[in-house]
Amino acid sequence: MSDRKLHFETLQIHGGYHVDASQARGIAIHPTAAYHFPTCDYAANLFTLSEAGYIYTRLHNPTTAAYEERVAALYGGVGALATSAGMSAILLTITALANAGQNIVASPYLYGGTHNQFVISLRNVGIECRLAKSDSPEDMAALIDENTRALFVESMGNPTCRVADIEALAKVAHSNNIPLIVDNTFGAGGYLCNPFEWGADIITDSATKWINGHGTAMGGIIVDGGTFDWGCGKFPAIDGPSEGYHGLNLYEAFGSQAFIVKCRVDGMRDFGCCPSPFDAYLMMLGLETLSLRVKHEVESAYKLAEFCRNHPKVERVSFVGFEDHPSHELAKKYYKFGASAVLTIELKGTLESTVKFVESLKLSGNMTMIGDSISVVTHPASTTHKQLSDEAKRAAGITPTLLRISLGLENVEDIIADYEQALANL
Ligand SMILES: *Cc1c(COP(=O)(O)O)cnc(C)c1O
Repeated sequence: MSDRKLHFETLQIHGGYHVDASQARGIAIHPTAAYHFPTCDYAANLFTLSEAGYIYTRLHNPTTAAYEERVAALYGGVGALATSAGMSAILLTITALANAGQNIVASPYLYGGTHNQFVISLRNVGIECRLAKSDSPEDMAALIDENTRALFVESMGNPTCRVADIEALAKVAHSNNIPLIVDNTFGAGGYLCNPFEWGADIITDSATKWINGHGTAMGGIIVDGGTFDWGCGKFPAIDGPSEGYHGLNLYEAFGSQAFIVKCRVDGMRDFGCCPSPFDAYLMMLGLETLSLRVKHEVESAYKLAEFCRNHPKVERVSFVGFEDHPSHELAKKYYKFGASAVLTIELKGTLESTVKFVESLKLSGNMTMIGDSISVVTHPASTTHKQLSDEAKRAAGITPTLLRISLGLENVEDIIADYEQALANL
């Protein structure tokens, strides 16, 4: 075969697979913590990073390596690092770039867990996370100063479905010699949206969601686009003598892969948030059907959104595939099919009637999850945002009758019929 670039659907099956001595066509699960060193010299070379090989599963594992190679191939990146959850992928990324006393600038339209990590936990260890007034290039640029070390956005915000203008933000980042990090969880492993095609430098993805696709494991992954110029002078921990490796310069030693190597050999070594090989296997299995699942789910989202828009007991539908959503045009530019599988609706009625609606749905899981094979409905006012004051709820756009919906793999006619009976019940 020539080196013509393979399509996404092909790479999700073939990426990361190499025939091993067993000739097995399945990916082997290697449930091991450590690896045998044939000689002490060999081990010494591994420890100084002068030779590549397995030391300890916290750093790397053959099953996890195959999974990482598959995700890197799907995104067209130079390397990937799998982590135990989406949150730890973000943590390792930020701490590889910014030290205490430095800052990052982030969009305000963030997943709740990311918001807390940024404005509480990272701030407590001295990394300031500045939330911009909006995710516009102007508002993000306004907060950058000489101590800023990255821009951070979600390609589509959870749960607002606000789409970031990745191409414009990449220009802002690069004119300040800092990388653009995109949390691409809603971009579904690169199938719906690939931020590298628009100038992003680093991607994080909560693999718990669409990559796994069946709600069977937690995981996150960092992907390195290999495009950022680490030699710009702002990142001495990457282009400079490494404290953890006897003065080794990672940029000189690993070139375009320097960032992802740093995340592994410093971040993962020191923070230890590695996935289990079994979970890496589940992620790989999920990836094999990623495009099929997501296409079905987005088509179902369009149909359910249309049904809800026409229903008299529904007050409002917020779906990025519809023209009245503020990010509709950006979604058409950055997202295949112009949408993700997530929408929000507001019912007419009260908190109590909304709870009754959720509890009378028979085919949707009432849980905080997206990207699962089962359709999910989440009632933020009684779950994820319950602790917030009424005022804070209003500021976050969380009304008593708001529901977040993530479409699954069922036949959408059954999902719509289920919504119909639950609405009739109100
Ligand atoms: C779920 C989610 C995360 C966190 O991922 P976990 O795997 O739950 O740790 C981060 N970002 C976004 C956009 C998410 O939806």
